[in-house]
Amino acid sequence: MTTLILGGGITGLLAAYYLQERGENAEVWEADGAVGGWVKTLAWPTEDGRPGRMERGPQGVLVTPGSRTDVLFKALDLQLKSPGKGARWVGTGGRLVPVPAHPVGLVTTALMSWSTKFRMCFEPFMPVGPEEPEEGLADFMARRAGKGIATELLPPMVAGILASPTELLSVDAIPKLRQWESHGSLFNGIRKSGVSHLQVPEGGMGSLPIRLSERLSSVHTGLRAESLERTPDGRWRVKAPGAERIVDRVILALPAFEAAALLGPHAEASAQALREIPYTSVRLWHSRHTPLAPFKDGFGFLIHPEEGRPYLGTLVPSWIDSGSAPEDRMQFRSFIGDPVLWRDPEPDQPKDWAWTMGRLRRWVPNLSEAFQTREEVSPNAIPRAEKGHRGRVRRAVEGLPQGVHWLSNARFGPGVRDVIEGLEPWLDTL
Ligand SMILES: Cc1cc2nc3c(=O)[nH]c(=O)nc-3n(C[C@H](O)[C@H](O)[C@H](O)COP(=O)(O)OP(=O)(O)OC[C@H]3O[C@@H](n4cnc5c(N)ncnc54)[C@H](O)[C@@H]3O)c2cc1C
Repeated sequence: MTTLILGGGITGLLAAYYLQERGENAEVWEADGAVGGWVKTLAWPTEDGRPGRMERGPQGVLVTPGSRTDVLFKALDLQLKSPGKGARWVGTGGRLVPVPAHPVGLVTTALMSWSTKFRMCFEPFMPVGPEEPEEGLADFMARRAGKGIATELLPPMVAGILASPTELLSVDAIPKLRQWESHGSLFNGIRKSGVSHLQVPEGGMGSLPIRLSERLSSVHTGLRAESLERTPDGRWRVKAPGAERIVDRVILALPAFEAAALLGPHAEASAQALREIPYTSVRLWHSRHTPLAPFKDGFGFLIHPEEGRPYLGTLVPSWIDSGSAPEDRMQFRSFIGDPVLWRDPEPDQPKDWAWTMGRLRRWVPNLSEAFQTREEVSPNAIPRAEKGHRGRVRRAVEGLPQGVHWLSNARFGPGVRDVIEGLEPWLDTL
């Protein structure tokens, strides 16, 4: 069986790696000059030439001891480092409120009203909802833990993970929620699945795709597949400028819109379902400042969208990954959401550094001027699992022609861990 994987992002490389583990060889074509897709660590020296770095996509990966993700990093000999338990905050009511580190702290936190806290205590006793119809994310949380959680806590958390407004999304936007509920309650599910910690591989997240590609026998960069064609004997001819292969199996490890463009002539129903999956764009401002307590030892802060949109929050990479910046610099990474999606109250105001710094100072008044800034625009970066997502994915997968597969975070869930876990059941179908 010959296999060609299109897309050398983390999904394509992992698919190739797991196939290789099963004794099958797969060739990978990546359009870009380097592997990794959004998972890339870029060098960003300080203004006086000292080493530093920044992440293009994920800042880290969530790892539970003994999980498939844990096993993968060990098998790849990639040393993981956990930054530990840093403080985190939510910006609400005009100030940054600490997120409780322990369940006991939930009783006293100012993040939720008393009625919300009271209702939350009943979560373990709420019945498990039916598989169908697919619920909205806010409806799911309101059903399980009460409306207060859905409006007070969920919106900033979801904006921080998915850069999208909660009210648009399906519960499938965060697949872990239904997995946890299947244990009887979210409380039970989290307890049984084990606590996960954010971890960063040595050298940054970009070490993961690089290590994977080193372990694979055939990875080509700079090859963008332009067409698929069925051969008379039922195989697939794939063409890129300067390259052509005829293979038994083609794996489209591509964002939905890229997969749709290749599939259109062969499987219109599947391509149409893929075209209907929207993607969210995000703008990131990286900046370096004089270290400031308590933020220098914290994870970062998310701002309730009602008070911040389209500014969604800021992470502190210098705490998460000590290789980001030298000790005398505190590195921030601030997220600005899509102005249309977030109904930006100041649409004519450019979201430049001056605007972003103004937003930061509103929440962190003592923040020093930045030594350095760097902007990264990320168009169509994050799949948006809007209500009805499950049906769209089902139609896309069921309509695929024989010998063609589609794998993506739009199918498995938004994070690297979702992709690692989602590939396992797919491998079982081969
Ligand atoms: C700003 C940001 C922050 C994030 N933060 C986190 C986080 O903290 N934790 C976490 O777990 N996840 C995070 N993610 C999500 C994570 O990065 C994605 O889940 C993951 O990178 C998706 O990988 P992928 O391979 O499915 O897609 P992609 O990374 O999009 O890879 C697809 C690849 O296909 C290539 N390609 C496209 N068309 C063709 C073609 N025709 N032929 C050949 N190649 C082609 C592209 O060049 C690309 O390399 C973040 C993402 C972003 C954008």
